[in-house]
Amino acid sequence: MSWEPSQMDLGGLSLTIVDGGTFRLDGAALYGIYPRVFWEKLNSPDEDNRVVLGLAPVIVNTPEGIILIDPGIGHSWKPQTMDRYDILGVRPLAELLEDADVSPSDVIAVIATHLHFDHIAGAVSAPTGTNEDQAMLSDLSNGGSESLVPALPEARLYLQKMELGASRQPDLRTAAYTASLAAHAYEREDRLVLLEGSCEPFPGIRVEHTGGHTAGHQAIWLEGSEASVLITGDLIPTTSHVRSEVLEGVDFEPAVTARVKAALLAQAVATGAYLTFYHAPRVRWGRIRTGPSGSYKLDEKLTVTPGASSRKPEA
Ligand SMILES: [Zn+2]
Repeated sequence: MSWEPSQMDLGGLSLTIVDGGTFRLDGAALYGIYPRVFWEKLNSPDEDNRVVLGLAPVIVNTPEGIILIDPGIGHSWKPQTMDRYDILGVRPLAELLEDADVSPSDVIAVIATHLHFDHIAGAVSAPTGTNEDQAMLSDLSNGGSESLVPALPEARLYLQKMELGASRQPDLRTAAYTASLAAHAYEREDRLVLLEGSCEPFPGIRVEHTGGHTAGHQAIWLEGSEASVLITGDLIPTTSHVRSEVLEGVDFEPAVTARVKAALLAQAVATGAYLTFYHAPRVRWGRIRTGPSGSYKLDEKLTVTPGASSRKPEA
C-alpha cells in the first residue's frame, strides 16, 4: 500500500510528494564510509547488505502549470532487474500523478536533479505493445532502448547541459546507474532544455548547479511567498546525510558534495527552507537548525508510513 501523499502550500506554489516505491542498494553505495554500526540501526540491511531507499517524486503546482521533479525509477523493468535492486511498490507515472489530481498532459516540465536511473527512468516509457526493459537505459547498453519515448505527452525535460555531456562519457564506477537514453527520448522530440549553471526557469523555481554526486547534478529551490523548499537530490538523499560526514559512496566528486552540501545547509538555515529527502524510506521533509558545534539537526519533520502520514516531533 502506498503512503499518503504529503502536501505543502508555499504561497503561490504548492507541492505534493508522492510514493514512487522503494528499491535496495548496497549499504556502502548509500552511506559511503560512514560506519555500518551507525546506519544499520536506522536502515537495517538485508542478508546481502542492501538497504532500502525510498523514491519520492515531487509534483509542483505553479501558475505556469504542473512541474514534476525527479519522476522516479519507472515501472517497466524485467523480473531480474526488479530482483537485483529489489524494486517494490512502483506504479505507472499516470498513477503517481493521480495522487496529486494531475494527468500526464497537465505536466509542462520535468526537472531532473541528475541522470541516474532511479531519478529519471520514470520520465520515459516503452512504446505501446513492446516489453522494453528500462534497465537498458545505460549508455553501456547495446542501444536497444533508443525506442523509449517520453512518458509525458507535453512536458519538456530540464537538466544541466553538463549533466548530459557527462552522462555520454560516464565515470566507469557509476556508469551502470547512468540513464542518458532517457534524455535522448526528449531530445529526439525537441523537448530537451539544457540549463547552464544557476537560473530560474520558472518564476519561483530556481536551479543551482552543484556537481558532487554527478558532474552536472543540480539542486532546486521552490520559493513561494510564505515558505521555501530545497530539493537536494542525491547530495542529501536521507536524513542521515544531513550530517557532514555522511556522503554517498557512489558520489563522483565527494569533496565537492561535502563543500556544496555545507553551503546549501547554511542557506536552508538562513532562509528557514524545508528540505525534502528523495531516498529516505519514511521522512518526506524536514526543517534544519544549527545544533551544537556547528552541526545541523532536523528541527521538525514529516514522517510517513504506508497508508498514513503524520507530523512527528524530532526524536
Ligand atoms: Zn538516487
